[in-house]
Amino acid sequence: MQEHTVTADRLPAVQSGEVDAVVVGAGLAGLLAARRLHQAGMNVVVCEAKDRVGGRMLTMTSTTGVPVDAGAAWVGPGQKAVLALLEELGIGLIPQYDDGANLLHVDGRTYRYQGSIPPVGPIGLLDLGRAQYALDRMAHRLGPPPWHGAYARRLDAQTLGGWMRRHVHTHAGRMVFEAVTASGFGCRPDALSLLAFSAHVGGAGGLSSLLEVSGALKYRIAGGADSLTTRLAADLGGRVLTGHPITHISRTDRTACVNGPGSTSITARHVLIATDPATARAIAHDPPLPTARADLQRRWQMGHGSKTHLIYSRPWWRDRGLTGAAITECGLARMTFDVSPPDPDAPGVLLAFVDLSNVDDPNLLRPGAAPERERQVLDDLEALFGEQVRDRLDYLEHDWAAEPWQSGCVPAPPPGLLASHHPWLARPIGPLHWAGAETSYLWEGHMDGAVRSANRAVTEILTVASSERLKGSTR
Ligand SMILES: Cc1cc2nc3c(=O)[nH]c(=O)nc-3n(C[C@H](O)[C@H](O)[C@H](O)COP(=O)(O)OP(=O)(O)OC[C@H]3O[C@@H](n4cnc5c(N)ncnc54)[C@H](O)[C@@H]3O)c2cc1C
Repeated sequence: MQEHTVTADRLPAVQSGEVDAVVVGAGLAGLLAARRLHQAGMNVVVCEAKDRVGGRMLTMTSTTGVPVDAGAAWVGPGQKAVLALLEELGIGLIPQYDDGANLLHVDGRTYRYQGSIPPVGPIGLLDLGRAQYALDRMAHRLGPPPWHGAYARRLDAQTLGGWMRRHVHTHAGRMVFEAVTASGFGCRPDALSLLAFSAHVGGAGGLSSLLEVSGALKYRIAGGADSLTTRLAADLGGRVLTGHPITHISRTDRTACVNGPGSTSITARHVLIATDPATARAIAHDPPLPTARADLQRRWQMGHGSKTHLIYSRPWWRDRGLTGAAITECGLARMTFDVSPPDPDAPGVLLAFVDLSNVDDPNLLRPGAAPERERQVLDDLEALFGEQVRDRLDYLEHDWAAEPWQSGCVPAPPPGLLASHHPWLARPIGPLHWAGAETSYLWEGHMDGAVRSANRAVTEILTVASSERLKGSTR
């Protein structure tokens, strides 16, 4: 064994720096794939660049001891893959609080409303209803896979912003779409492919299923979303190497050698890269990746967003008959939700999605500008909920653009990429395979998509392994 080869004492399952499979990335997709490969009898190692596992699943603890999800939080009834995994691991769900009225702040006034239909007047409602119908129809006409074919190419030649200018005619209608794009994609509608938006809607079963509390926002994961990834990592034990970024992979047709910190190297028959395509571009390849895959990685965009949590002694907005959910047309905080713990005596937690894609003042984007951002968020929320928002016990924010080894929060592909390059999202290249939430067309960019991507990649790897075993036994 060479001096810098990963040693057997750090990797109890590894002999001489050689394993059956290396997984790059200990997010949900990578950890689940490693679990399944290990269960199938493979010698597997997970290399994670950061000193923690979980990727975009990160639960922070406030000074009051309350856990808050800085990344993924919600799952819904249509997300059968992630729900099955949670059940397998015995991890519970917390129903999203939804008792009372929501708030909408538009044209300087705040309106209360029940359910999912905002009070935007009969013309606004007609406008929103028609736009939603048109989008759901577009999504329905696509795929599977939704990125494929002449219709997909037509949609991919346009941006969501261009489509909105032609199909959404009222100020309130545009505001709702802008808030949805900001919180769901972390970008402006003009930067997002219409195909990407429609495919995302279709993969979620329609706009309502994506946005409503009865849909994708129905439950949060008990104990915080990262209880899922920390559990997967704990079960894998010493097979997960944190602080182990992979920067270079050399491959032949049949094996690959992944290189990490210093000159550590692990050779494997299969390498599964389980990151989004933009983050994957930090890995150099020898020989270089096929041009189309390299191009996909180079041009892929991730949206830029941040979740801010305000902790209170109790969820005081509930006393006023409010759900805590609000949408506003101006400011940094465009959308809020009540994400308090289920215990009625626990502190109240208000989540504000902060729209960094619409910030005009570059000073507010500085990593050190948290106090300025907090002031701005409080001003925004006071306009919605009144001055009680200032009585916070704690304020927590997490900017995913500042997170190392993460290119952003959620997929936001620009026009002209998906329709031509989608086959390369998951196409194996020799011993290299690909997973990650961005590779699944069902619930793409969600935890459910990450789980589905892991299941698909594991099937690919096990199929290769079993056909090789079969060939070996017939020789
Ligand atoms: C603010 C926010 C809110 C969200 N809300 C929801 C939600 O409510 N519901 C939902 O379903 N989804 C939500 N998501 C999306 C969800 O978090 C992701 O879809 C999912 O966690 C992606 O998992 P993944 O394993 O595919 O990728 P990731 O979580 O991105 O994992 C990739 C891992 O690879 C590591 N890595 C990268 N490069 C290297 C390298 N070269 N070497 C080694 N390791 C590397 C990274 O450090 C990371 O740990 C949200 C995401 C964010 C950021």
